Amino acid sequence: MFPEFTLRYARLPERFYAPFTPLPVPEPRLIAFNRPLAEELGFDLAAFDAEEAAVWFAGNVVPRGAEPVAQAYAGHQFGNFVPRLGDGRAVLLGEVTDRHGRLRDIQLKGAGATPFSRGADGRAPLGPVLREYLVSEGMHALGVPTTRALAAVTTGERVFRTLPEPGAILTRVAASHLRVGTFQYFAARGDEEAIRTLADHAIERHFPHLLESELAGREEGERYLALLEAVAERQAALAAQWMGLGFIHGVMNTDNCSIAGETLDYGPCAFMEGYDPQTVFSSIDEGGRYAYRNQPWITQWNLARFAETLLPLIDRDQERAIERATAVIKAYEGQYEAAWLAVMRRKLGLVREEEGDRELVEALLETMHTARADFTQSFRYLAQAVGEDAPALLTLFPDEEGIREWLVRWRRRLASEDVAASEIAARLEAANPLYIPRNHQVQAAITAAEEDDFGPFETLREVLAAPFTEQPGREAYTRPAAPKERVLRTFCGT
Ligand code: AMP
Ligand code: MG
Repeated sequence: MFPEFTLRYARLPERFYAPFTPLPVPEPRLIAFNRPLAEELGFDLAAFDAEEAAVWFAGNVVPRGAEPVAQAYAGHQFGNFVPRLGDGRAVLLGEVTDRHGRLRDIQLKGAGATPFSRGADGRAPLGPVLREYLVSEGMHALGVPTTRALAAVTTGERVFRTLPEPGAILTRVAASHLRVGTFQYFAARGDEEAIRTLADHAIERHFPHLLESELAGREEGERYLALLEAVAERQAALAAQWMGLGFIHGVMNTDNCSIAGETLDYGPCAFMEGYDPQTVFSSIDEGGRYAYRNQPWITQWNLARFAETLLPLIDRDQERAIERATAVIKAYEGQYEAAWLAVMRRKLGLVREEEGDRELVEALLETMHTARADFTQSFRYLAQAVGEDAPALLTLFPDEEGIREWLVRWRRRLASEDVAASEIAARLEAANPLYIPRNHQVQAAITAAEEDDFGPFETLREVLAAPFTEQPGREAYTRPAAPKERVLRTFCGT
């Protein structure tokens, strides 16, 4: 069933990982399988058998050609540096080459305690596995770079958190699991050779154009500076997309910051409903470090930590290296601002770039903030408000005056786009989703699944697969939580 494995990461020097065979589980049962993704990855599905698949995705049998390893990494967790984290419960089986010729990691998350477990159990409860499944696939459908969910199994074991919960394993697919924390692991050990190896591996895998370009003949340091720039560019684009959807990652530690620029590690993440830039969900984020509005600046902070690890490669002269890396980190601000404005212009149906666009966006956000208007609905309902005031939009704003004034301004700006209202409306619907993984819906799907009813999970999966298309009969999924449904805190649950 599995495509052929490549073992790029497992062939890196031994200090990059610990070989680790997943620990078998008593009763593997396949509860979710992502057929389109499996096809994209080149799986042979002609003789697909759920029972057999469960055994693979539980890690009870290691597929031929795979050499499972737990990856080493460090990381800043809430600003505090931990020199040794690593995959405490995840194993990388290897990489496969997808239909587009790209290498993709296949990882089992929840596969047992590894040498990096630091006393924890190496397992994952069903709730967090389903949450990651739903939200990562939802993000993909929304057009956001992200790790993917290929399969989920239950294990037949209970895992103990505050209460016993069903155990599960997620099969995660990623462009790679290289993180800022992977570089930090070696930097903390003063292992410059490893950083170089890792940087070359990252370039080859994610930014091969840096090898082909004119940089090839230039001083070596240029290449590593270009790596930093390339990662910063992807991270700026990623942060902008999160902000444009009201997505809050929740644990933007450097070990969850992907070099490939994918959204990585869905823990206590959530989508904001009533707009408030200070929103925090995570129960462990007491200081609000990872609040919605901080995300772009935390990304920059994480990039600065990445830059530090690359300094010796950028220039032998430390001062010069710092100067050059600092310039890249500083330039991120402009890159992010531009990426954000591009995202927001699209959300307002604007293709042309005009002065005053930023102010127009900010004015809407301010009006939404005052009303605590639902983020997703506010933008989605704009499609009905191109020509005249839309009742659906107005209901989100108890004081209609502010939004009415804004609509007048917006329509004046739309006029300069010089296209038919119907085209603007179509643009708006393509840019602003109707369905997002709303926290209370995700929670309801998890609660039902814990009682062995996977119906709500299946329905939500289907709804989230087509987030921009109206799906008759599924209006409930477009609505924010009623007060009693509201999930105010999300938990890592790991
Ligand atoms: P995360 O919060 O998932 O990003 O994980 C942070 C660190 O804790 C990583 O090194 C994980 O591998 C480790 N970790 C989280 N949960 C567990 C667990 N149940 N068993 C072992 N290690 C874990
Ligand atoms: Mg993590």
